[in-house]
Amino acid sequence: MPFIFFKSLQGTLKSYGENINEISSLLDKAILRVNALIDPTPENKLKVLSLPPIEELSRKINENIDQLYERKKEITKHLQNINKVLEDARIKCESCNGEGKVKRLKYEREDNIIMSFYERELCSTCGGLGYFTISEEVRKKDMRF
Ligand SMILES: [Zn+2]
Repeated sequence: MPFIFFKSLQGTLKSYGENINEISSLLDKAILRVNALIDPTPENKLKVLSLPPIEELSRKINENIDQLYERKKEITKHLQNINKVLEDARIKCESCNGEGKVKRLKYEREDNIIMSFYERELCSTCGGLGYFTISEEVRKKDMRF
């Protein structure tokens, strides 16, 4: 179960890296654009022929920077989650969202009418606890990272 946290952290870190690569590549293009403006030799002009205009490059750079800020918040949240799990030595059950019970849709036939209603029953994933306990041994191993 703790792997869920690491998986989503890994996913966010990957996206973060992609944003950084994108910004780097956009900056390369922006530099070529600026070069062609300052030093408009045929060679420099040729290099920017297929590149988007500087306004578009600038807009995309800003978009990526905004995304970086958002992802940074997500990464912090993931790390806080992992810390909390290690501190409390328990992981919230994802099936019942920590409540120990789940809603299940049931049907009942009365005369010719079928009625549906929700019934709360014990979560079968965590057995009604709402969480999983991490053993001391596993916790100590994790702390070494
Ligand atoms: Zn549960």
